[in-house]
Amino acid sequence: MSVEITFLGGAREVGRAAYWVKDGKASLLLDYGVSFDEEDRPIFPEYVSPKELGAVVLSHAHLDHSGALPMLYTAIRKPLYMTKLTKELTSILINDFLKLSGYYVTYGDTEVKEMMESVRTLEYRRTVEIPEAGGTNLTFYDAGHIPGSAMVKLELPSGVRLLYTGDVRLSETQLLAGADVSGLEADVLLIEATYGKTDHPPRENVEALFVSDVREVIQSGGTVLVPAFGVGRGQEILAVLADHEIDGDVYLDGMVRNVAELLIQGENKKFLKNPEMLEKAYEEARVVKGWQDRRRVWRRKGVIIASAGMLRGGPALYYARKMQSIERDAIFLVSFQAPGTPGRRLVEEGRVEQGGPLVSARVQWFDFSSHAGAGELLEIVRSVRGLKKVVVVHSEEKTALSFAERVREETGLDVIVPKPLETIKIEI
Ligand SMILES: [Zn+2]
Ligand SMILES: [Zn+2]
Repeated sequence: MSVEITFLGGAREVGRAAYWVKDGKASLLLDYGVSFDEEDRPIFPEYVSPKELGAVVLSHAHLDHSGALPMLYTAIRKPLYMTKLTKELTSILINDFLKLSGYYVTYGDTEVKEMMESVRTLEYRRTVEIPEAGGTNLTFYDAGHIPGSAMVKLELPSGVRLLYTGDVRLSETQLLAGADVSGLEADVLLIEATYGKTDHPPRENVEALFVSDVREVIQSGGTVLVPAFGVGRGQEILAVLADHEIDGDVYLDGMVRNVAELLIQGENKKFLKNPEMLEKAYEEARVVKGWQDRRRVWRRKGVIIASAGMLRGGPALYYARKMQSIERDAIFLVSFQAPGTPGRRLVEEGRVEQGGPLVSARVQWFDFSSHAGAGELLEIVRSVRGLKKVVVVHSEEKTALSFAERVREETGLDVIVPKPLETIKIEI
């Protein structure tokens, strides 16, 4: 039995996930995402002709996994598998991406529409046979990373069982229950290792610190701006604040608000750990409905949760510019801040704009990561039965190599860290 994997992106880098799996009878693409350079221009994965693919599988909605997918839908329609919630979130994120970066993107609304019409949805722990991929069996397991995110298991015609984690988080958060790893079996594990060298502090400590700092700012009459990713993080912060009950209003603005509304609708609720809690939090929050509201709320005592998470744009950037000179106010960052983004500049240099004024508002960063830390990743490797090979992806080179070494030492398993564009052949 053997399988070949070509790394069209996502090897020795975080983002641009694109893994092409072939075994003679089956040809499947796992994710097709983009990354961004320092000027915020998208970088696409290596091209693959859709003619060569039987089917495509998407692990979750984030653009570094989904952003290049419409490029495959110019002429022929290959089936595209994902969870139902990932379908809704991907549509939101790709349309937003087209609005912001359309100039650099080679596809348009037509391709996005073709892509969305090719989607076949699948629930967690249900297996479907893909005729277009030689009868490959596909199963999704909750990945605990963002709502709707899945780990992907393929049982290929050759008999090889491959498990791809997508982006994964093992321990629970307010919003999600954590990855569902019980009873997993596979020969080959394709695992992300964004944090392959570090562990995150325990979530309850981060929450306690965040909430006590929010209270401090509010008590001294200030407003806290929390720039947050529209999908997942923003709603997580909403749930954290609701759980700890703070004395002040919570405002939701931008994509954070739209996605919160979406998550508490109908069947989407089943992707959440505690949907009633998010529903209650959403009902108690105040939604910012337009510019008239927006011009007012930052002067009020309370917390504003707004996208975008790295201050690249959206209402969060508007609020940051207004609040930066007010000493009693605060900007609390809760997301990863990529190099070259205003958020990173704020943390490192204390200013939002290049060459702009130094910020007098209080600035802090909190580790609310939606990825597993190194210890958790190792636990995931250990929880998969029957493993013969581990392949490390979605990780900076040094981190990937160091995590691979740790897995070898602690489990004795054979570990591969593929190079960009490399094709590896695994014999079982
Ligand atoms: Zn990712
Ligand atoms: Zn992700």
